[in-house]
Amino acid sequence: MSDRTSPFGGFTIDFGADAAVAGGPATAATASAQDEGPRCTQVLILGSGPAGLTAAIYAARADLAPIVLGGHQPGGQLTITSEVENYPGFPDGIDGPELMARFRAQAERFGATVIDVEVDHVDFSSRPFRAWAAGVEYRGDAVIVATGASALWLGLESEERLRGHGVSACATCDGFFFRGKEIAVVGGGDTALEEALYLTRFATKVHLLHRRAEFRASRIMQGRAENHRAIEIHRGVTVDEVLGENAVTGVRLRDVASGATRDLPVQGFFVAIGYRPNTGPFEGWLEMDEAGYLAVHAETHSRIEGVFIAGDVHDHRYRQAVTAAGDGCRAAIDAERWLEEHVPAETVAATAG
Ligand code: NAP
Repeated sequence: MSDRTSPFGGFTIDFGADAAVAGGPATAATASAQDEGPRCTQVLILGSGPAGLTAAIYAARADLAPIVLGGHQPGGQLTITSEVENYPGFPDGIDGPELMARFRAQAERFGATVIDVEVDHVDFSSRPFRAWAAGVEYRGDAVIVATGASALWLGLESEERLRGHGVSACATCDGFFFRGKEIAVVGGGDTALEEALYLTRFATKVHLLHRRAEFRASRIMQGRAENHRAIEIHRGVTVDEVLGENAVTGVRLRDVASGATRDLPVQGFFVAIGYRPNTGPFEGWLEMDEAGYLAVHAETHSRIEGVFIAGDVHDHRYRQAVTAAGDGCRAAIDAERWLEEHVPAETVAATAG
């Protein structure tokens, strides 16, 4: 697992611009950095995870001078994960933060402007489309929404402290590190059961911890978990604390009915209580499915012409860095082709940063 004290693996990233600018508490340096930077572009990209930054690489190489608004977690979910061993091209693995710093450096090398601000609202009623972040208005002839999804956490101090040191929210990313170990998974939905089943490939035993007697997960997944000899199900328990100073040594469970606590020794703890797609600014503009993920129509198009969607903000099936990156590539190519057909040359000249 990686050392989280050096989150960007030696790469220099400017996080200075995430304070408010217009009328806000920004320092003079951040305000002037934003004042001088471009605000209008042919392709405005919202989000800086694998989808957003891959879209930026492609759009920048197509001479579209994209602006990327980085979001609340610049670099996306990989910046809070440990070593990534399944991203092609890195046979020895790479730290998630370093991988994302490389994505960003590659996008910037070709002329993308990445600004670490979070979009709070948008206006997609007319072109150029508009988005506001930290009090500043940005405009794009096309927009790629790649704001990702965030794993939900229990909210325990010990969970936060041991993240990357035995605590994870991604079995596909981190399961391999738990070969031969005993671990616990919390949650009672399909994600938790899927993660628990996946983790049996590595762990000697998987304890599945659920706060109620009935699972939310589909019956077929329940059946598989119940019948798996490496999975032990604990119903009616909550997690009070993750134990361990520098690495996970156990979890403290509380019996919901009696209130009694007991310690369960494990070396890994996976939180699988669901994801929340980062869609707040798009409510009322873009269509969402019943789980709150953005709905994609043809290819990467949204229901608004010129607004494209990429990555985990719509994908709750694969949720992988490599699939998000592929999606970002597709969205950038779709945006480029759409711009060729729809934006008059004089508009392009007027809005290019
Ligand atoms: P979910 O269905 O919302 O389930 C979340 C689970 O976490 C629930 O069992 C919930 O308990 C528990 N939980 C929530 N907050 C908790 C807390 N603070 N402490 C302890 N437990 C907590 O989320 P999901 O499993 O991520 O699934 C989301 C959607 O994706 C679902 O529609 C699911 O079917 C779908 N999905 C499908 C597949 C598949 O088909 N292969 C795989 C993954 C996900 P309660 O039950 O008590 O509320």
